[in-house]
Amino acid sequence: MNPVTGVGERPSEHSAFGAHGSVLVINSGSSSVKYQLVNPVGGEAIASGLVERIGEDDGIVSHTFAGNTTRRTGAVSDHGAALRLVLGLFDEVGPDLEEAHVVAVGHRVVHGGAVFSEPALVDEAVEHAIEEISPLAPLHNPANLRGIQVARELLPDVPHVAVFDTAFFSTLPTAASTYALDRVVAAEHGVRRYGFHGTSHQYVSGKVARVLGRRLGDLNQIVLHLGNGASASAVRGGVAVETSMGLTPLEGLVMGTRTGDIDPAVIFHLHRNAGMSVDEIDELLNRRSGLKGLSGENDLREIHRLVAEGDDDARGALDVYVHRLRKYIGAYYAVLGRVDVVTFTAGVGENDDIVRALACEGLQNLGIAIDPARNEGRKKQPTIISPDWAPTLVMVVPTNEELAIARQAVALVEG
Ligand code: ADP
Repeated sequence: MNPVTGVGERPSEHSAFGAHGSVLVINSGSSSVKYQLVNPVGGEAIASGLVERIGEDDGIVSHTFAGNTTRRTGAVSDHGAALRLVLGLFDEVGPDLEEAHVVAVGHRVVHGGAVFSEPALVDEAVEHAIEEISPLAPLHNPANLRGIQVARELLPDVPHVAVFDTAFFSTLPTAASTYALDRVVAAEHGVRRYGFHGTSHQYVSGKVARVLGRRLGDLNQIVLHLGNGASASAVRGGVAVETSMGLTPLEGLVMGTRTGDIDPAVIFHLHRNAGMSVDEIDELLNRRSGLKGLSGENDLREIHRLVAEGDDDARGALDVYVHRLRKYIGAYYAVLGRVDVVTFTAGVGENDDIVRALACEGLQNLGIAIDPARNEGRKKQPTIISPDWAPTLVMVVPTNEELAIARQAVALVEG
């Protein structure tokens, strides 16, 4: 079955999906595939879904279209089976992919290494390059590549575009991307700072300029992407000049389950004195640390609940989390010299007014402050939350990585 046809033809002006067709965005993980069919012009998700527990007997598929979610359970043997199930659901419950006129499939790829500074039209050479970069992202790139391979097999008539999480940070100045490590060793093994969440930082910093009606080139911005993973960036005139994640997404801010910045000697200490293997320490730092390691919970909603009950560990975790955030805001102020806008985004940044207020506490002398009434509550739209007197704007801007990937894919395909 090949439900996608008509590549290169214009869809009917009267199509329910608009005159520009749609983009299927795929985010393929090691045991899951997330997808969204996006209208790249209007920006809305036409349909979306998730296949979980790939490779297990109790796989779960959920597909949402027109406000209804269809769920299926059963064994999903591999990524090919997962994508076949998804295409089957498009056939069965809609939307019809032929009518939706899929003009491109956009794939999220975590690590583009030093090779990819732009989205790439996928061919065998691109697949090979993604594979070559895999030692830098052993958990992510192989799974991303598997998704690309099966999607190209099942949807051979549509262009496939790889959009890299690192690409926006390919502009980091050498002084920001270089670790002070023996340069021969670093060069031989690709050890430098690459940065991640780039699609989100680029989308949000661009959106800020559009919302304010300002030229992107005139704005110095700090973007705080606070989800389960979290990263900060400094963006000068639309160009990324600093970011908190490094060789991998482990560096930088305190995250749901990751340490963020840590003295690398902690690893030697645990290896030599606690008898932990490198793999065990990797797992400890990536999955059992951060907010979860400090309080037992990685979700800030739970942490606020525990704090309200008087839980000292939760209070301590929140203190460490916001201390690191303030430290990065101050550091990026020094990097930029002048900051026009600080923007919060992603699950925590968009929804958590307590974190936003604490992160900006005590920064009045830098011109950064929060208006409590403007800050209150969850934000579904771009919102200014700083008081009128503050020279630096503080904003909340919801991110939309799927739409950003869809638009980058269309831009590449349509030239
Ligand atoms: P990711 O894409 O990295 O998995 P998200 O951007 O979806 O993460 O963010 C998930 C996190 O957002 C949750 O772990 C939780 O801490 C936080 N979050 C979501 N909703 C709220 C809320 N209403 N209040 C506070 N935090 C929230």
